[in-house]
Amino acid sequence: MKKLNILVDMDGVLVDLLPRWLATYGVATGEYIHPDLVTSYDFQSYVRDVEAFDDCLKFALQFAPPVPGSHKAMQELVGAGHNVYPLTYCHPAAPDAHRLKVEWLKHWLPMVDTDKLIATRHKHLVRGDVFIDDSEENIDKWLGAGGARAFLFNAPYNPMHRSFDWHQICRAIRLELEPASQDAVVDALTQMAQEDGMFDWDFNNDI
Ligand SMILES: [Mg+2]
Repeated sequence: MKKLNILVDMDGVLVDLLPRWLATYGVATGEYIHPDLVTSYDFQSYVRDVEAFDDCLKFALQFAPPVPGSHKAMQELVGAGHNVYPLTYCHPAAPDAHRLKVEWLKHWLPMVDTDKLIATRHKHLVRGDVFIDDSEENIDKWLGAGGARAFLFNAPYNPMHRSFDWHQICRAIRLELEPASQDAVVDALTQMAQEDGMFDWDFNNDI
């Protein structure tokens, strides 16, 4: 089986950041915004005090849990021998974001090798077999730069587009990109068809 280089965005894909970010901002300013109301990726456009919002980022990151399904997905992908590279933008408003993200990974997703963390705003310049991100712009730029397979991650701000959760992404990687698994699926389907007697059907007979 080919070992894939899988590029995984952190904020919104591994780290369930936005709910904690908005809650932290609400405590700091009294302006509470429900995450489901955020229907575009431009988070700053939803708050009155952008500076305070940015200041809350580092606190939110320290207390944000993993995105549902991400722990199991990392176990599966790393366990299958793939190289998982966390590919993340470290916001200038949080100058210690890189350190915080390394600590976050070690605490919540210890199966991920933190030496593989790549911090850049220019994700489209990083090559890999698979790219997973919750920003449609990032997905489009990465595919536009020659990337082969990308998944836009589910989020309230991706309602109008084809997006995926971790269960769907792992299944797609198994079926599309792991040839051994694809063979196994074909074998299983063939066996099921044989057991059902499909190969003995006489399609000229009326049912
Ligand atoms: Mg993100």
